[in-house]
Amino acid sequence: MNPPVYDAQYWARWSQPAGLLRIATYLKEQGYKVTLVDSMEADARGFVKKRERRVDGQRITYIRDDVTKAVWHFGLGWDEVRTRMREMPVPDEVWIGSVMTYWWESTRDAVRYAREAFPNARICVGGIYPTLAPEHAVRNLSGADVVFVGELKDASDCPTDLSLYATPPSYAILTSSRGCPWDCNYCAARMLNGGTNKVRGREPEEVVDEIEEKVKHFGIRHFGFYEDNALILKGHLKRILELVIERGLKLTFYAPEGFETRLLDFELLSVMKQAGFRKVHLPFETLKWETNEGWNRRHASTASFEVALDAAICAGFKPRTEEINAFVLFGLPDDNLQDIIDGVTYVHHMVGSVIPMLFTPVPGTKVYRDHSGYLHDEMGWDLQHLNGKLLPFLEYNQRRYAELKASDYLQLEALMSILNNGKFLSRAVDLCDASAASRAFREIAGAVDRVPTHTPVI
Ligand code: SF4
Repeated sequence: MNPPVYDAQYWARWSQPAGLLRIATYLKEQGYKVTLVDSMEADARGFVKKRERRVDGQRITYIRDDVTKAVWHFGLGWDEVRTRMREMPVPDEVWIGSVMTYWWESTRDAVRYAREAFPNARICVGGIYPTLAPEHAVRNLSGADVVFVGELKDASDCPTDLSLYATPPSYAILTSSRGCPWDCNYCAARMLNGGTNKVRGREPEEVVDEIEEKVKHFGIRHFGFYEDNALILKGHLKRILELVIERGLKLTFYAPEGFETRLLDFELLSVMKQAGFRKVHLPFETLKWETNEGWNRRHASTASFEVALDAAICAGFKPRTEEINAFVLFGLPDDNLQDIIDGVTYVHHMVGSVIPMLFTPVPGTKVYRDHSGYLHDEMGWDLQHLNGKLLPFLEYNQRRYAELKASDYLQLEALMSILNNGKFLSRAVDLCDASAASRAFREIAGAVDRVPTHTPVI
């Protein structure tokens, strides 16, 4: 079962429960019959339903300074989940997948309803939440028989089983590698991979066999790569894409989490373009080198971002058309609005499409460990409060910047959206170009000369 989600916002795109679907393949190979309840299955338009989240009749909202955030129940209602459970054959085992640590409450409720429906079944919970917060999970999932921590290695390389859906999904998620040699302060990849910095990959032929099988049986044409850092394996992704081209598959590919910019070169980007990548996502994160260093990200820099950007443009991806996108991270402890704006302005100038990433302190990361005293002891928060959308470091940063408001972060997000949507001759407007209008705007904003400009190769 993929449980519903309690959150302030939810994006249904690229959110298939790939881990559970791999385990389903593995269980079938072991002779089990498997039934899936995917509470987050999107409709034909790519949306999931939402309803107000209420506990004991009370609407759940979080007041964060001058902003109130309502929490919604996304996906199937519990009444629908219970009906589905009633209609299926009584199982020997119920496997529940749990993704974000701040969604743990719906995992708890899923365990409760599964136990109620199937009193004699063995209930197993696994996934990111129990792996990153095992003690919390054991404490709060008392109805489960097994709280599984880490990776079920036997299932890791299995293809996802999409035959469990009555209506085949329009896309599939691929994971061709696992692991990352780096250990960025805010990333949980190391802990999710059992504490190792080793990177391992599936055989490219096997990955393309999975793609071909999904095209043949389900008519799927859109594939999303979800990897930790696939490009570390030299030639790995390139070989997969070359095989796609050799086999004559006409598909579209995405990597919504981006690839390490240092390793994106012209040759690879050209193969990506030819194989069907429509967009590239570049993890820019911050303009300030000291911040980058503080995050233990010395392997990433503005210089490597610019080299990757130039290579992407030479390979045929067009800037200012949302074909090239870059992430900017904000809402971290000690971050400064001016630095964030500088980063946003720079990315806006360079690629046109800025993707804001509000920071979530994830258990198992250094940022979380360093600030767990503030988050849990001082603020008294549980994991559901440590959700970037609820601005967990607001009060922390207000100690340093007394005038900072919750609405400042939302305004920042809105600004990024305005910058992305402002079009001129069908391309994202560039407020850092040499035009008199842009210059006048920058003078009003006081940004002249602070943000470096760079003319990408064309
Ligand atoms: S490079 Fe990416 S995957 Fe690796 S630790 Fe940093 S953020 Fe995580």
